[in-house]
Amino acid sequence: MDQQNFLRNKKNRLLAAAIAFVLTLIVTTTLATINGLNNHEKRVAEQAELVQSSMNSMLRDAHEAAHKASPLLGRPCDFNVEKALNMLPGQYKHIYSINFIRNQHISCSSLLANKNADIGFILPLDKALWMSRTVSSPDIYVISLITHLPQGTLYVASDLRFLYEMLGNDLIIEVSGKTLTAAGLVKDSLASAQFRRYEALPAHSPLYTLAWRKPEIGEIVGYTLDSWLSMGFILSTSTIMAALAWQLAIRRHSLHTQLAYAIRHHQIHPHYQPIICAKTNAVSGAEILARWHHDELGFVPPDVFIPVAESTGLIIDLTESLLKQVVDDLQQGIATFPPGFKLNLNISHAHVSDSSFDLFIDHWSPIFRALGITLVFEITERENIDICDALTQRIDHIKRSGIRIALDDFGTGFSNLAFISNLSPDSIKIDRMFTRQISQEAATPLIDCVIDMAKRMDILTTAEGVEYGYQADYLKANQIDCLQGYFFSKPLSFSDFAGYLNAAAIEQ
Ligand code: C2E
Ligand code: CA
Ligand code: CA
Repeated sequence: MDQQNFLRNKKNRLLAAAIAFVLTLIVTTTLATINGLNNHEKRVAEQAELVQSSMNSMLRDAHEAAHKASPLLGRPCDFNVEKALNMLPGQYKHIYSINFIRNQHISCSSLLANKNADIGFILPLDKALWMSRTVSSPDIYVISLITHLPQGTLYVASDLRFLYEMLGNDLIIEVSGKTLTAAGLVKDSLASAQFRRYEALPAHSPLYTLAWRKPEIGEIVGYTLDSWLSMGFILSTSTIMAALAWQLAIRRHSLHTQLAYAIRHHQIHPHYQPIICAKTNAVSGAEILARWHHDELGFVPPDVFIPVAESTGLIIDLTESLLKQVVDDLQQGIATFPPGFKLNLNISHAHVSDSSFDLFIDHWSPIFRALGITLVFEITERENIDICDALTQRIDHIKRSGIRIALDDFGTGFSNLAFISNLSPDSIKIDRMFTRQISQEAATPLIDCVIDMAKRMDILTTAEGVEYGYQADYLKANQIDCLQGYFFSKPLSFSDFAGYLNAAAIEQ
């Protein structure tokens, strides 16, 4: 059974760590992807700005050069005209050549090699702008601005090579049905299938269209993960989250396992805190409080392990174990209890609402009756209990079995008159928070009202946390029934409690 539990818990821990790892991986990858996509779009937009402004300034230069060359057009291509043409490209960054056209041939050019070349198959004169290889060198791509004037036609060719690098992998330019990509000139337009993933950017000029490639998510995830930094970041945060989940699971698991072990082996012991009758100063009862001394952890406070026991269902086994030990203690015969002696046991809501609770009452009430002890179940009002039919029946069952009910921690939780009348407790335990407010100087009307109200409802009152003589005196003067606190005694082991009882009996 232990082995099975261990394996199941190990499985759960592994599952928690794996879930934390996967969730963190998904979240960080998504964030990194969104971030990657944004960065990519920003970078491409900046690049597109640069390309557009270069294109525009190149076209402006071409227009200006054409304008400057136009007075030479129509003149015979003599030495002086050629020299003037030859000087012009030097004034502009990207202009490759300036050419005059007559009868589909270059009649005059800034490049001597171009003269007389047939442009019929490289330059359609019905277009304003055209991209092609040059007339003289097939390795060089140019963009030609064609200008028709009354005295003739001329075109200014600008070198496109500088644009290749600027385009990179994500941008392309379409001019008159041809497309320039980083890999070279393609004879197809943007509308062709090979460019279906490209989207045109807002136009800056009617002469060309710039388009950018929309990346696929997989591609972005790919290069996000490729980057060592993101990869390292994603993996390390995922691993940290998994380790944290593992640690949390281990801590919770280990406290739970240790608690289960301690309960099974009766290592959590009952301690007894005396409750004093205000009228007689006699010990009229005691509250049973769980004490756990762990070999390695040392003293584990009930405030730490009781909530774990309550949330895991171990509280039922713990209460059973405490009662077994209490009965063993009582049967030792080392203490004498006055008639009507009460033992108060803290009962959690999780236990009262469990189906085993009726059996629990039927089992223990006759045992304590036989021992001459009145059992009192302390039910805290810190949690909001839903008073349903099942609970009312349980409360009836408790009372029919001769067990009393005390409303614990009164004033700290959900106390309301409807609740008190439904639970109809035999006594209320006024929380130590109120006792602390009692001062030597001034009256404390709140505690007086609570005592007064309880008296009118015929309910006994016990003040918790009485630490000073003046608090006990004040409470006695205000008709409290019972007192409990360090002023009388802290919770004691059974042998110490037996000694306390015997000493108190001698004093009486
Ligand atoms: P509680 O039922 O209000 O128990 C009284 C708490 O006040 C005890 O703390 C006790 O040691 C402490 N106390 C008593 N006199 C004084 C005093 O004069 N001054 C101060 N400052 N404190 C005083 P403890 O033993 O640490 O228990 C804490 C809580 O754990 C209990 O509060 C109770 O709610 C829960 N608990 C303890 N044992 C059990 C148990 O066996 N079953 C259940 N269900 N709950 C338990
Ligand atoms: Ca209590
Ligand atoms: Ca209490």
